[in-house]
Amino acid sequence: MRYLLRIFVAVSAVICVLAHADEQTAFSENDLREKLTPLQYHVTQEKGTEEPFTGEFNDNKEHGTYKCVVCGTTLFSSEEKYDSGSGWPSFFETTQKSAIQENVDKSEGRTRTEVVCKKCQAHLGHVFKDGPEPTGLRYCINSASLSFDNTSDDSKDKTEL
Ligand SMILES: [Zn+2]
Repeated sequence: MRYLLRIFVAVSAVICVLAHADEQTAFSENDLREKLTPLQYHVTQEKGTEEPFTGEFNDNKEHGTYKCVVCGTTLFSSEEKYDSGSGWPSFFETTQKSAIQENVDKSEGRTRTEVVCKKCQAHLGHVFKDGPEPTGLRYCINSASLSFDNTSDDSKDKTEL
């Protein structure tokens, strides 16, 4: 009986730890697989890249705000978008620099700067230094990492969950 009690206590402790760990993660894998399309999941969670000229927002010229498809953080505005000819949505600036984290990416035999959503770590794309003035930057972003809101007012610090 004492043996069984010990097992019970051990199992309870494990469940407790697991439950707590789950609380700390904003989105579980299951949540994300339900919320996102397979492509959105692949790009944001597995650092994938959509095929050029196939993304929903590559040619989008509507006025509005581009948000992280996972957590809803405002990342870019249509005011910052330009046609780079690359086949991916391109921006010369981010609406809020603090929302974006840059990582060194040495995959595919070259060194690039990966950009991810700082809040949820969703992979967005890369930033290159061959963009237009005034920044000289080209944020090359997957449409699959973005959601588009044509009703918002581009407010700089708008963050939604
Ligand atoms: Zn995010």
